[in-house]
Amino acid sequence: MSHIAFIGLGNMGGPMVSNLLKHGQSVCVFDLVQDAMAHCTRLGARQAKTASEAAKDASVVISMLPAATHVQELYLGESGLLASIEPDTLVIDCSTIDAETARAVAWEANLKGCPFVDAPVSGGVGGAKAGTLTFIMGGDESAVALARPVLQNMGVNLFHAGPVGAGQIAKICNNLLLAVLMAGTSEALQLAIHHGLDPKVVSEIMRNSSGGNWTLEKYNPCPGVMDNVPAANDYQGGFLVRLMNKDLDLALAAASETGSATPMAAAAQSLFRVHQNHGNGHRDFSSIFELFAKS
Ligand code: NAD
Repeated sequence: MSHIAFIGLGNMGGPMVSNLLKHGQSVCVFDLVQDAMAHCTRLGARQAKTASEAAKDASVVISMLPAATHVQELYLGESGLLASIEPDTLVIDCSTIDAETARAVAWEANLKGCPFVDAPVSGGVGGAKAGTLTFIMGGDESAVALARPVLQNMGVNLFHAGPVGAGQIAKICNNLLLAVLMAGTSEALQLAIHHGLDPKVVSEIMRNSSGGNWTLEKYNPCPGVMDNVPAANDYQGGFLVRLMNKDLDLALAAASETGSATPMAAAAQSLFRVHQNHGNGHRDFSSIFELFAKS
């Protein structure tokens, strides 16, 4: 029976596999971390010794890897997946990477007769667990049509942004805005705290006023305001500071290609870079809240 091969079982990939399984899909997984694979096998997935073994006889390959270097290493080159994959296998990369790498992988995939879609996601670990992710697709109409029923097992909103690479551009525009909103929300909440106000009360005021935004709705950065967010768990898990810095680097590189002015992205990048350099690269990005604290 043909199956879905899923490569990369981290904070996002693990829960995405769980939702594929809940929808009755047959899934074979691979990750460099054995514990991540063991978690998925307990949920009903098969595990492979290599990515190529996972992709053998698969009808769909999905990857959810940290950055472009990992995606290149997985698909391209002599020992890459595309060297051994069967024609007609649908390839969906959900990692957030640069558009150029997405186009390079798409080119090689198409040479092998495999449709390719870049489909980075939005919605965070909460969305991955709940199966409510937003997928932002780039690719031909025909490839996107093939990807839709697969991605519907893991998400609710499926957007087609344009040709291959367009999903990545739309995604980094979104994350540029998210970085600015998270830094601004943190700054505003800390100012309120420094003036003796209750952050729960101020969050509720801003959420219902003109400063309302996604971070106040779903991902409050101040510990004690919201349950079930990384701030309630010492900023463990979630979306890592180093991944947000990667996305801001991608946004600034894309801006430089077109000569676009992105001063807010540059300011956010400086803040997240300082925060990472203070040893916070492996914490959730909402921990930027601590950077504005007064000691
Ligand atoms: P993560 O670091 O938690 O997980 C990545 C996984 O990939 C790890 O388990 C790692 O072992 C595995 N991996 C790395 N190289 C591999 C290889 N060659 N073969 C097999 N497995 C390999 O990252 P994440 O938070 O799950 O994010 C994945 C992607 O999704 C990133 O591009 C990120 O920017 C994007 N993203 C993350 C979030 C979030 O909230 N975490 C939200 C939206 C988008």
